[in-house]
Amino acid sequence: MTETITRPDVTPTTTDGDHDRFAHYVRKKDILRANVEGVPVIALCGKVWIPNRDPSKYPVCPTCKEIKAKLFGKS
Ligand SMILES: [Zn+2]
Repeated sequence: MTETITRPDVTPTTTDGDHDRFAHYVRKKDILRANVEGVPVIALCGKVWIPNRDPSKYPVCPTCKEIKAKLFGKS
């Protein structure tokens, strides 16, 4: 379970809504797996949770944004 991210194959998603209401970046295949198997996803910032909300109404997690910019470039 030490897969590295090699391309911007991430998409913002959200927390379960109880604490920090941000949209976090998560690998798409992790989200697909979460949807199919009901397992938690791991955001770029390290947050782990089971996604179940529409991310479009939340601001993007600043930590995820920073990490994504470092990994994939700013544009
Ligand atoms: Zn995050």
